[in-house]
Amino acid sequence: MSYLGDSMPLVDRFARPLRSLRLSVTDRCNLRCQYCMPEQDYVWLPREDLLTFEEIDTIVDAFTPLGVDRVRITGGEPLLRRDLPVLVESLAGRQGITDLALTTNGVLLRAQASALRAAGLHRITVSLDTLQLKRFRALTGTDDLARVLDGIEAAASAGFTSLKLDTVVIRDVNDDELVPLLEYAKGLGAELRFIEYMDVGGATRWTPDAVVSRREILAGLEAHYGAVLAVDEQSSAPADRFFLPDGTTFGIISSTSEPFCASCDRSRLTADGVWLLCLYAATGTDLRRPLRAGATREELQRLIQAIWSVRADRGAEERLGMDRQTTLVPIRSLKRDAHLEMHTRGG
Ligand code: SAM
Repeated sequence: MSYLGDSMPLVDRFARPLRSLRLSVTDRCNLRCQYCMPEQDYVWLPREDLLTFEEIDTIVDAFTPLGVDRVRITGGEPLLRRDLPVLVESLAGRQGITDLALTTNGVLLRAQASALRAAGLHRITVSLDTLQLKRFRALTGTDDLARVLDGIEAAASAGFTSLKLDTVVIRDVNDDELVPLLEYAKGLGAELRFIEYMDVGGATRWTPDAVVSRREILAGLEAHYGAVLAVDEQSSAPADRFFLPDGTTFGIISSTSEPFCASCDRSRLTADGVWLLCLYAATGTDLRRPLRAGATREELQRLIQAIWSVRADRGAEERLGMDRQTTLVPIRSLKRDAHLEMHTRGG
């Protein structure tokens, strides 16, 4: 059965199509960002539960006929997954995938950029929250800033032309670096996207006061550059894009203050095969179990179709309406179920 052959596209209860799939390939990370993995100890997914590349291919093949044409590889830190270019090559060769991207912290990018490019990866996004060494150390628990910057340059040299840099903006942590980060991105020909700090699972230090809203980000940039204009475009991408007076574009992902659930066409697969319909979802659907029990691609496809067609998640909007005096998921729950962690869900 091919859904694309049918007259009606697959949509959920709010008429949202299933288009973008974020594939987490590991829950491990080599940084300990304060807004994502601030604890001393973590419970990791059992190694034998991690999907093999063949299993990932089969699951992706079940998604593409239903409308998925954009795949983003993420983690944890995806470059920690051994032989990642092998997976990239096989995904890049799959019919129906028009956009194959990777989100990385950049630490291991110098060594892998050329191989990823040769394997057919289309785009790379690197997370970069500061250009200051001391601050990087405080934010990530490592001294790897130079490696990250070197990795970004390696990606540009390897021919990744539409490089993006993602910055989580946190009050009194890096909100004085909006202009230096934009100038750095401009110098590289990369597009910077500011992300509002979200109180997702794992962000155990989140407080409402630490969020720098889209409105504040724009006001700060206008104070420096002059009038900032919105780019006039229709898109389901999470970032709204803007122009500086000199034509430089940048984005803001305002998941916290102005959620975009109405146009969300994303879902997520954890490294052990749990399919999540929303970053804020409490639970997901285990696709590994039926796959390892012998389910065919068509059977997986029917399962995915049945679940998406009744999807009604609006996690970020519902969270906006809640009293946010406590963190979303308490540490004891995170320790019981690693699937609640942002680093397991892939961000
Ligand atoms: N390790 C990779 C990286 O650093 O890009 C990929 C995984 S990371 C979980 C994916 C994205 O989630 C990153 O851009 C990160 O900044 C973002 N993220 C993690 N925790 C967040 C939070 N509390 N609020 C907003 N964004 C967050």
